Amino acid sequence: MTNQTAPIVVVGAGVAGLVCAIELHSAGRPVLVLDAESEVGGRVRSTTRDGLVFDHGFQVLFTAYPTLRSYLDLDALAPRKFLPAARIVQGGRVSLIGDAFSDPSLLIDTVMARAVPLGDKLRLLALRRFAQQLSVDECFTARFAGVSTREYLASRGFSATVIDGFFAPFYGGILLDRTLATSASVLLFTFKMLAEGDTVVPATGMGALTKQLAARLPPGMVRTGVGVQSLTVNDGRVNGVVLAGGDVMLAAQVIMATDAPAAARLAATAGVQIATPSGARGTTTLYFTTSGASPIPGRALWLNADASAVISHAVTVTDVAPEYAPRGVSLIAASAVGEAADRSDADLESAGRREFAAMARAAGDAAADAKATALTRVAVWRVPYAQFAQPPGWREHRPTIACGIPGLWRASEVLHSSSLEGAARGGQDAARAVLQSH
Ligand SMILES: Cc1cc2nc3c(=O)[nH]c(=O)nc-3n(C[C@H](O)[C@H](O)[C@H](O)COP(=O)(O)OP(=O)(O)OC[C@H]3O[C@@H](n4cnc5c(N)ncnc54)[C@H](O)[C@@H]3O)c2cc1C
Repeated sequence: MTNQTAPIVVVGAGVAGLVCAIELHSAGRPVLVLDAESEVGGRVRSTTRDGLVFDHGFQVLFTAYPTLRSYLDLDALAPRKFLPAARIVQGGRVSLIGDAFSDPSLLIDTVMARAVPLGDKLRLLALRRFAQQLSVDECFTARFAGVSTREYLASRGFSATVIDGFFAPFYGGILLDRTLATSASVLLFTFKMLAEGDTVVPATGMGALTKQLAARLPPGMVRTGVGVQSLTVNDGRVNGVVLAGGDVMLAAQVIMATDAPAAARLAATAGVQIATPSGARGTTTLYFTTSGASPIPGRALWLNADASAVISHAVTVTDVAPEYAPRGVSLIAASAVGEAADRSDADLESAGRREFAAMARAAGDAAADAKATALTRVAVWRVPYAQFAQPPGWREHRPTIACGIPGLWRASEVLHSSSLEGAARGGQDAARAVLQSH
């Protein structure tokens, strides 16, 4: 086989690789997607054990993501909605802050919430309106991309109380970064997405999302359990891949849809250095079950705003999607971010129980301690590389789709933002660039 008749090889079957392959396949190009793992999905996978659904790290889908949504049959995923709200626990008190435009029943609690002073509530409304007026691309212009979320919020007049007591834990949950060092572009983008759609999980787990994308490709087009170890170069052009077992496979083009560090390692095997965002945001998710009542009930995320918090955010997933556990069982997901994510399983478990009890006590639950004690830890999911760091200015050094050597391309979240939407957009843009060039 010459490399003219060989398929376009997409390395990586996460959101970016699958979207890229869908585009290329629908344009009539022969495509082969290879992934080192035993199943598709990359960072968006779920495992079912004893009737319990464990997402590989707690994660949600914003239905307003424009690019990703265009590839999904959302109804077929049976999306289960979170309340557009968060319960903020701080100093032994809990306040419910919600988006009353999305769910008017949240108005009274939100207006009454003591965690956010009135002036800041008005500023939150103004920020919501402002983010909605921007297009997705405008969110990422230099004006916002060059400042940190913390600086931007201060420039809009938000008080330190709300910055540390609301935004820090809230964005700890979304960006896995409680320091608010992430670029303000990401704040505006996520605020826009939160305002314009629902926050959901598919009834059978987040992994259903990537399985649905893969099902849009013909059988055999995606091969799992096939790692790519290096690239082959002939006459100054990437013309194939070497598989983990040593077999060589010719390729008309190679598109790297792996995470950023893996793409940099692969490109280096072709003698090419590609720009890679430095810094990783990791998270550890603990799953607990109980056959009694959950200490942190409801469809809103619980945010632990105390500075000493080990568990950053938690939710009773089965209150959102009962399908995540057998009838009568509640499943709780609790996430640690930053340095806390590196603590031992036992440490995280005991901190989880202690902090759940404190959250329930703050909500006035007389049985708080008994409920926290009755929990069983059923899984711990460690994801050291959940997102890449997106500090101010990172987009100025973004890599490009073409990798500086003929035949090698990049389909990745690094082209847009570290998110499901960023990955879908990266996959779509790469496919279009390859199609345009050939
Ligand atoms: C716990 C967690 C929470 C998150 N929360 C959110 C959230 O709430 N909202 C949001 O929008 N985003 C969230 N994200 C981020 C989002 O999941 C990612 O941005 C997105 O999934 C990245 O997709 P990708 O296709 O670019 O990369 P990946 O999903 O990493 O896919 C890359 C694939 O490449 C494969 N691969 C790597 N090297 C090789 C090789 N040499 N050979 C063959 N295959 C290879 C890997 O096995 C993998 O399947 C979260 C991520 C995690 C893990």
